[in-house]
Amino acid sequence: MSLADRSLRGPVLSSGELEALLGDELPLLELLHQAFVVREHYFGRRVQVHVLDNARNARCPEDCGYCSQSAISDAPLDPYEWKRRSEMLENARAAYDLGAYRYCIVASGRGPTRKQTAALAETVRCIKRELPIQVCVSVGLLDEDKALVLKQAGVDRLNHNLNTTAALYPKICTTHTHADRCATLDAARAVGLEQCSGLIMGMGESNADLVEVALDLRERSVASIPLNFLIPIEGNPVQSDGSLNPERCLRALAMLRLANPGAEVRAAGGREGHLGSLEALSLWPANSLFVGGYLTTLGHDALATYRMIRDAGFEVELPDGKVASWAQLGLDEEFRVLGSERILKPDVATEIP
Ligand code: SF4
Repeated sequence: MSLADRSLRGPVLSSGELEALLGDELPLLELLHQAFVVREHYFGRRVQVHVLDNARNARCPEDCGYCSQSAISDAPLDPYEWKRRSEMLENARAAYDLGAYRYCIVASGRGPTRKQTAALAETVRCIKRELPIQVCVSVGLLDEDKALVLKQAGVDRLNHNLNTTAALYPKICTTHTHADRCATLDAARAVGLEQCSGLIMGMGESNADLVEVALDLRERSVASIPLNFLIPIEGNPVQSDGSLNPERCLRALAMLRLANPGAEVRAAGGREGHLGSLEALSLWPANSLFVGGYLTTLGHDALATYRMIRDAGFEVELPDGKVASWAQLGLDEEFRVLGSERILKPDVATEIP
């Protein structure tokens, strides 16, 4: 039975089997093909594009060592308080016009107060009234009451990453615990909010740790799993452990896909830098991406990302479930013909120096 069959029909892959996928026993392209079979079963060749909005920047009292917005980071940031509702509405519209499936509101801080939660809920109501875009929020720790306020406002998903295992958590953060994070996910589930939760690679984790988080997320039936590749920001205490290379990142994405077959798997923060020239291969296991950068760092813009998606033979899914035309996304429909011509009829130097 193939890995894809096992993933789709069971018996589910064990932690030992998943761990082996992160080694070099199975050739990378074979692993990606197995992950692709599962990805195609649930999502076809569709890619959902997400746009992040950093709604509140820095001034966070927490000490997450990987985050430039934390109290202990020396990264030079320009802090600001919560953006105005009108600005977020404008940003949501820009994301929608860009072809994004989902607009993700992210705010620094341990978690919002009741007042901030109510204000955010009102912002989400305004966005949902005006635009048919999916809205996700990531605002730190939440209890059930706050999660319910957001759910009733129309939030589609709550993001709260587990980041790493419970055992490793004290090495990356001491102001809150892994259990606190789990409690926020539990609160989301209790009120019927879809959960988005993922991890950050490159912070000293082993293969077994990666699999442990993947299985924890499977246990929690999370709808969406962003895999972040640590962006080592100068001034942050946690810097990359040097373990990341394109193959390891791709293997981890494939492992997540095979462990969580029906979940949205996202090649998230840091894909550009860590996957390098193999970036397009991330689409074999993953079915979603961010465009336009991350909270405090730049990433590829939408056009560059759409080009990669198109060239790799995938398509962009809009919030209404339809597939976007390339022209709608600002690209040439006839790229294959033009591309071939360019390849077949290159400018040839007449004189060889
Ligand atoms: S709670 Fe969020 S914003 Fe604050 S330091 Fe941690 S990751 Fe950064």
